[in-house]
Amino acid sequence: MLDFTNFTKREFADLIRNRAEIDREELYAEARAVRESSYGTDVYIRGLIEITNYCKNDCLYCGIRKGNLDAMRYRLTPEQILSCCEHGYELGFRTFVLQGGEDYFFSDELLEKIVRDIKRCFPDCAVTLSLGEKEYDSYLRFFEAGADRYLLRHETANPLHYSLLHPKEMSHAHRLECIRNLKRIGYQTGTGFMVGSPYQTAENLAEDLLLLKELQPEMVGIGPFLPHHATPFAHEAGGTVELTLFMLALIRLLLPFSLLPSTTALGTLDPARGRQRGILAGANVVMPNLSPSDVRSKYMIYDNKNTATETADYLVQLKREMHEIGYQVVTSRGDCNRGRRMMND
Ligand code: SAH
Repeated sequence: MLDFTNFTKREFADLIRNRAEIDREELYAEARAVRESSYGTDVYIRGLIEITNYCKNDCLYCGIRKGNLDAMRYRLTPEQILSCCEHGYELGFRTFVLQGGEDYFFSDELLEKIVRDIKRCFPDCAVTLSLGEKEYDSYLRFFEAGADRYLLRHETANPLHYSLLHPKEMSHAHRLECIRNLKRIGYQTGTGFMVGSPYQTAENLAEDLLLLKELQPEMVGIGPFLPHHATPFAHEAGGTVELTLFMLALIRLLLPFSLLPSTTALGTLDPARGRQRGILAGANVVMPNLSPSDVRSKYMIYDNKNTATETADYLVQLKREMHEIGYQVVTSRGDCNRGRRMMND
């Protein structure tokens, strides 16, 4: 078994650079064995609700950056968000993920109310927020309103690389401070990064792994960078399925109890098999889209994102795909298991 628990940055970078020498099937089998001892063969689903595509930021890679004047902007109303949850609940979702651009229209007060309403209507469900960088007090307020989890990818662990992907108003230090605040408050915290983003090196990916090891997040979202035509990175090369799967497997081995999604971006690069391949490399979560169909084509963070498939149809397909490879989609909140086993022993 590959043991890289104490790998240095240099050793990780070499491993990533020379990955052609690694037997991939063996690596994925190890990742699956670890995943199965933490979570069995269950696949958790999260209903993704894209609540707004207004954004004050200008991240160079993102299709809903404020500088994209062609983007048709929308916001969901609290009633629309609740009805997405209702539809999702009937389909078997027990986690709702509210994601969006950084949109001041959604004040702390309004978000608090939305979280409270969802938790009141669906007390057996987890609420995950993914709404970008906020002050400590705002995160605390949402947590006290009942939000269980927060996703905030660090995007890259290297500050210089971060500055090449973001406008100068945004700071790597602030992003990390936000992640630390989320953990301190008690959220199940998710972070992560894009694979194959412009200027990314093997050293950067090694730093990402070391940062994950330090932060010990409950969730880790990684997916290939995919160019969007109306961004400064329109003509950059995208990330690959191959490197994304390799990184997924390493993360599973490094963080045995992490909740790792087989991401939409991976499914976009390989529509026929991407989701299955992510699961076979150690992922254990899938995040189907629950947004109303008329807004889906507007939440275009990269080109070719699937917007057509109805959630119910997507779910039928997903269940079949998981069944084919010996896994099963379950109706459960799918919380992080870390520490539970020790408590029961
Ligand atoms: N505003 C929120 C949500 C961002 S969208 C936040 O800041 O957290 C969620 C993730 O999509 C981002 O964190 C980023 O890693 C990813 N993403 C954005 N643009 C992308 C692109 N062009 N290709 C691949 N992933 C992208």
